[in-house]
Amino acid sequence: MSRFLSDRFKALEAYVPGEQPKDMKYIKLNTNESPFPPSGLVYKRICEEIEKLELYPDPEVSGLKQKLADFYGVLPENIFISNGSDEILNFSFMAFCDKSRPVVFPDITYGFYKVFADLYALDYEEIPLSGDFTVNISDYTGIGKNIVIANPNAPTGLSISLSDIEKIVSSNPGNIVIIDEAYVDFGGESAVKLTKKYNNLLVVMTYSKSRSMAGARLGFGIGSAEIIKDLEKIKYSTNPYNINRLTIAAGEAALDESEYYSDNCKKIIENREYTANKLKKLGFEVLDSKANFLFARSDKIGGKELYLALKSKGILVRHFEKDRIREYNRITIGTKEQMDSFIKAVCGILGE
Ligand code: PMP
Repeated sequence: MSRFLSDRFKALEAYVPGEQPKDMKYIKLNTNESPFPPSGLVYKRICEEIEKLELYPDPEVSGLKQKLADFYGVLPENIFISNGSDEILNFSFMAFCDKSRPVVFPDITYGFYKVFADLYALDYEEIPLSGDFTVNISDYTGIGKNIVIANPNAPTGLSISLSDIEKIVSSNPGNIVIIDEAYVDFGGESAVKLTKKYNNLLVVMTYSKSRSMAGARLGFGIGSAEIIKDLEKIKYSTNPYNINRLTIAAGEAALDESEYYSDNCKKIIENREYTANKLKKLGFEVLDSKANFLFARSDKIGGKELYLALKSKGILVRHFEKDRIREYNRITIGTKEQMDSFIKAVCGILGE
């Protein structure tokens, strides 16, 4: 730490991204990326766009907004485009929460929520999930606080029904409810249609998972025009050109080949169920995931021990050194071949 750092940030614990080691080639099942490459049109449009790289991108991102609006059946004024969904989450914590507007989220969820809450020195509460890691809906109904929920949740993969989401949104009309749908395309129920009925709902999505573009950094949010305007205010006060030209081109192209991506989601769901069954046969407890990962533990081996043993065999999964979940590992779903290698490695480690 330099002596120049503001006192505000001295105690801040930054988010720790999943490891991206370069010492050898791993089967990467640790950061919930897609195992499939982007579609052909994405490459083509990026190559065309390179010729215009000397020009700033469109700060309004209007072409992509229109395409997303058509895709999701909303208006462009209901869409905010961000540099990964982390950015829209950041802007939302910045825009809508302060000392007098507290925010709550589950104790076991995407670790960045707590980092944003600390970054902005907010009054926040981490509400414990139930013993089976489900969200207790009554903890969130009529609480008069801002709410952030990942649905499906990470790292558990468990999802909440649309009717329960509606109960939360409708019972907190004076507060913003942010539903982070990073993993919704793998079997969850999207709350986008509720944004037409409730102007306190912001649904956050990303191209990083189901649209194979984690490296391009593209996320978006859908909500009422007023909420979107507030987010635009923050964007124009920090980084007006937040999305680069190549990413905009890639994001538009991906929407023209949506069948390719929905087919990939189907494959990932199939591979998830296949892997879950294999793990259960090996005695693992596996949560009922609706995401592109599994969350599993075994009585036969500790969470960290399994993580390290897999790593030594060239397979990376994500282990969280955190109360309640340290016996678990989060396993991203890859191709069938990758999942077979993973299962083979687990069998070897367990001596089965
Ligand atoms: N929300 C959740 C629940 C996530 O797990 C992640 C990434 N791992 C994100 C948001 C952020 O994704 P990105 O910034 O790549 O869109």
